[in-house]
Amino acid sequence: MTDPKPCLVLLGKQGAGKGTQAKRVAAHYKIAHLSTGDMFRSQAALGTAFGLEAKRYMDAGELVPDDIVVGVIEECLAEGGPLSGGFVLDGFPRTLHQAEQLTRVLEDGGLDLVVNIDVSREIVLDRLAGRRVCEDCQRVYHVNLPPENPWNCDDCSGRVEQRADDHEEAIDRRLELYEIETVPIVDYYRQQGLLSVIDGVGEGDEIFERLTKAIDSRTD
Ligand code: AMP
Repeated sequence: MTDPKPCLVLLGKQGAGKGTQAKRVAAHYKIAHLSTGDMFRSQAALGTAFGLEAKRYMDAGELVPDDIVVGVIEECLAEGGPLSGGFVLDGFPRTLHQAEQLTRVLEDGGLDLVVNIDVSREIVLDRLAGRRVCEDCQRVYHVNLPPENPWNCDDCSGRVEQRADDHEEAIDRRLELYEIETVPIVDYYRQQGLLSVIDGVGEGDEIFERLTKAIDSRTD
């Protein structure tokens, strides 16, 4: 291994399955999982000034400004911070500026691998429109595959609801922003030799296997 604990970034369109897979990857490699979206949502639910400001952008499908997001990540990555023992970043970076700032903060060799989970626009549109998420543990369901006792989470009995930004206009805007702001990051990491692309279509277990194969082949 180049590093005892892998330092990873998951990229992919909204609805590509990043969140679900990032949780599994974090548990498998015993590393921290940081989802900037989950972090903003929990701050918004707590009603902090920071969370409420982020929520205005999120509900409209807009990106939270770079300076806010980079500041938070920088704190998390500080020595002795929550990400110092290996991590998987989910939803960050989302703009080229964020990716460059991550490189600056981590310095050389700080990332082992960036995995892009590839799913077509048609598939993610269906997934996002039908997506329902547990408010407490963030487990993801679909209207066609609800929890056993609709709508309480099978894992934690939390309320399973539609996300405030999973409505048509915000979904369109998020996917548009993905093309404009996030796709350039794919090339940025490809040029650095850090990118692996995996097919994000299939059962969760299959995708997890593709992911761990890509990670192990890089870190072994
Ligand atoms: P997600 O849960 O990753 O789909 O993120 C939900 C929303 O949180 C996004 O649509 C953005 O409004 C905001 N967000 C999450 N991560 C970032 C980021 N790295 N940069 C800017 N906004 C973000």
